[in-house]
Amino acid sequence: MPSAAGRKTRGPRVGVLSLQGDFERHRATLEALAVEAVRVTLPRDLEDLDAMILPGGESTTMLRLLEATDLVEPLADFVRSRPTLGTCAGVILLSTEATALPAPTLGVLDVAVERNAYGRQIDSFSAEVEPAVFQGPFLGVFIRAPRIRSHGAGVEVVARRAREPVGVRQGLIVGLCFHPELTHDLRFHRWFLSEVAGLALPEAVPSHAESGRGGAA
Ligand code: GLN
Repeated sequence: MPSAAGRKTRGPRVGVLSLQGDFERHRATLEALAVEAVRVTLPRDLEDLDAMILPGGESTTMLRLLEATDLVEPLADFVRSRPTLGTCAGVILLSTEATALPAPTLGVLDVAVERNAYGRQIDSFSAEVEPAVFQGPFLGVFIRAPRIRSHGAGVEVVARRAREPVGVRQGLIVGLCFHPELTHDLRFHRWFLSEVAGLALPEAVPSHAESGRGGAA
């Protein structure tokens, strides 16, 4: 573990759960914001992170892999107290209630979600989303997305599509039913990191500037 002094000099480090699902595009988005992306596959990877992203993927598979890697408890501890962004399957993992899952969710975001509520893979779509936390429309990419069927009073809606909530915030936790990392629009990541997580973002560098660290998922 770095010393307290060491922590001050480093830039923000954000973990991306990387058992299955969409690590690379979140990494590219974080790096476009000059933020270090850390691949999380083991409990020790959660040490010394400023925030966490739970990406899209297949929530049933992710839950099984969380159990197999002993990540359930350490990850649950992290998301209870530290800034966390869940996208698509990530929302399902964070939710208090989700349809048709083989294991309990992390249960920290007070929403009831219906998995695959728009239909099958072929029914995936892009649609304009209205953000409530910054100006202007955002292109939402919905891939076998869940729908938020209800939410608790402590949950703030941060994005809607045709009046339906598709993005929510509860304290340090944000859940987006769509995939902001699949567009080149950095606004939801930037808002999460600076406004929710309270991180001072470094000056953004061109996204190709750190090209030495590429590699397949
Ligand atoms: N259909 C997936 C699930 O239910 C979520 C899809 C996604 O993350 N894009 O877990």
